[in-house]
Amino acid sequence: MKEKLHTKVLIIGSGPAGYSAAIYAARAALEPILVTGIQPGGQLTVTTDVENYPGFADVIQGPWLMEQMHAQAKHVGTQIVTDHISKVDFSKRPFVCIGDSGTEYIGETVIICTGAQAKWLGIPTEKKFQGFGVSGCATCDGFFYRNKKVMVIGGGNTAVEEALHLTNHASHVTVVHRRDSFRAEKILQGRLFENPKISVIWDSALEEVLGTENPLSVTGARLKNLKTNALTDVAVDGIFVAIGHAPNTALFKGILDMDEEGYIKTIPGTTNTNIAGVFAAGDVQDKIYRQAVTAAGTGCIGALQASKLLVEHK
Ligand code: NDP
Repeated sequence: MKEKLHTKVLIIGSGPAGYSAAIYAARAALEPILVTGIQPGGQLTVTTDVENYPGFADVIQGPWLMEQMHAQAKHVGTQIVTDHISKVDFSKRPFVCIGDSGTEYIGETVIICTGAQAKWLGIPTEKKFQGFGVSGCATCDGFFYRNKKVMVIGGGNTAVEEALHLTNHASHVTVVHRRDSFRAEKILQGRLFENPKISVIWDSALEEVLGTENPLSVTGARLKNLKTNALTDVAVDGIFVAIGHAPNTALFKGILDMDEEGYIKTIPGTTNTNIAGVFAAGDVQDKIYRQAVTAAGTGCIGALQASKLLVEHK
């Protein structure tokens, strides 16, 4: 017979939002269950140095930070289950979520913390140098490129903001875009074009990341002009891929209100979705800030809101 697990607070996802929600819910004696998903620990488990999470004067490692959050959530009483939710029924309370294992998780409230994933170009050398000169987050890794040359791939708001942010550290930033105009907001474009540290290469794609083997390190980028097919090598120390993020929300399509890019809509300042008792926290509902600390903050709000709702419905 299929196992059924009941809880007052069911948390889906194990990034900073999920673990923070779990810590707060457990300390409110709500005995939460957290279902980890396919990538336990989320996006931070594929980063290396973390210097911007408050509380650590020395550099910490992303995977270590997530192990600590896991241990802390468990220590205060969260039941952590390794499973992946593949079906949900939010039509009535309690809500029912079914895992790949066949287990039914029945939650009086649900906090969705399934996160987002950076989109990657998909070329083999991009994967090879990920974490060794190829990054998906300038806010996280820009600091390591002090007085170095970097490249940003993309033409949206993220690419332009990342390029502007990188000028605080790097000696020069080259933005490479596949077309001859940006889709980023005009005000951001204006700032970019005015910045003497930034140059733009239009109509071009990253063909190959160039680098050394031992140690694994980026030394340049081979670009292909998409109009002429000409190849050019540009010397850079780091490459930031900023071609967008995709929220992990396929499971909730047609059930929860989402924006045109698939981010779950929440009422600003809250984690409320369009279904009372279903909350969304972290990157799954935030396409602007996307930081571990902001995800943790909204995870906390989710747990406090779930707790309040349970008291009101008692
Ligand atoms: P976007 O989808 O807006 O932009 C992605 C960019 O990457 C586009 O320029 C696109 O090119 C390019 N791109 C996509 N795929 C490839 C590929 N395979 N190869 C090369 N280039 C590619 O994503 P963003 O992350 O920039 O923004 C996501 C959302 O978040 C947007 O709604 C944005 O406005 C919002 N945002 C808002 C911010 C703010 O308000 N401050 C900050 C950051 C994001 P092309 O243009 O040719 O399609």
